Amino acid sequence: MFNAMFVIVPIFIGIVFIFMIAMIASPKLRGKMMSNQFKSIRYMMEESQDDLAKLSGTAVGIKKQILDENEDALTDIANKEAKIKSVGIKSAAKAIKEGLTETDSIYCKHCGSVIDNDSKFCKRCGKEQ
Ligand SMILES: [Zn+2]
Repeated sequence: MFNAMFVIVPIFIGIVFIFMIAMIASPKLRGKMMSNQFKSIRYMMEESQDDLAKLSGTAVGIKKQILDENEDALTDIANKEAKIKSVGIKSAAKAIKEGLTETDSIYCKHCGSVIDNDSKFCKRCGKEQ
């Protein structure tokens, strides 16, 4: 009994070791093992196809029920959010418009270079504004 164990266990460990070395060394073997993984996933999907369909059907049903039961509250929330967003967009648009029109600079009447709007003489050509 013990003698048999002393033979079988080292042989088993040896086989596992050789298999691991082969897995590391051979891309082809690794590919085959990975391909087996994909096959097993495919079998699993096929086996549980009905369950998956039932599950997604239940999820859709629950979502629909929640939406039906809370339609008024959800509509109210959506409207309020839209209102808040529109206020934000309006103030952003106003800020952009002000940024575009409000300016501290003017153009020189004589040479056209940009000068401060309160300067009396052009910095570039020196002529009076
Ligand atoms: Zn000028």
